[in-house]
Amino acid sequence: MRILVSNDDGYFAPGITLLAEALKALGEVTVVAPERDRSGASNSLTLDRPLSVRRAANGFFFVNGTPTDCVHLAVTGLLDFVPDVVVSGVNFGANMGDDTIYSGTVAAATEGFLLGIPSIAVSLASKEGRHFEAAIGIALQMVERLRRAPFGEPVLLNVNVPDRASRELKGTEVTRLGRRHKAEPVVKIATPRGETAYWIGPAGGAADAGPGTDFHAVEQGRVSVTPLRLDLTHHAQLERTRAWLAE
Ligand code: MN
Repeated sequence: MRILVSNDDGYFAPGITLLAEALKALGEVTVVAPERDRSGASNSLTLDRPLSVRRAANGFFFVNGTPTDCVHLAVTGLLDFVPDVVVSGVNFGANMGDDTIYSGTVAAATEGFLLGIPSIAVSLASKEGRHFEAAIGIALQMVERLRRAPFGEPVLLNVNVPDRASRELKGTEVTRLGRRHKAEPVVKIATPRGETAYWIGPAGGAADAGPGTDFHAVEQGRVSVTPLRLDLTHHAQLERTRAWLAE
């Protein structure tokens, strides 16, 4: 099995280093990841300049671009094979609810999915980052399962793992995305030159976090697995939109 690994925290992040090492038990692992932390990069492609690919001492490829760039260039020319699976992560921090819109971790997996490859984004739902090994164990299980039991149709999975020891995890739940409250206010900073700078604030707390959501599963100590799709069309509003345009 040929496994392409990427992330948005950068090629040096503990989450990707440990993940790549562990996945070697299941197949041939290639890492192509951003040269620096690109968390929040979403699905952005770099189109205004060429990208350089360098190789670290441990064999990882690193790119001066986004997570999406990494997977895109890996699959469309850097590698001489098409990976059987793309795994993105393990991200330091949750990617639940609205986070998925901004996430570079999810974006790297999304790019694999768009290129026709089963793809999984794995995040450690934590601000402390104590139990990466638990999230890596889950990633391993998911890839092993894909190898043993192919999904049968294109698939993009968003996985969030509570930050606790593997034996403390309370199982796995298939979930829908929850929603967050409005983001925290932007932070205003006085610059040395007397100007005001603005630093984007943290995401809001969970708002729609009831049973069935990713927030709820993780809160209960369960691994959350959400199948994602990319068709943003609001099908239920097609008729309303036609009617409104006729008003
Ligand atoms: Mn990140």
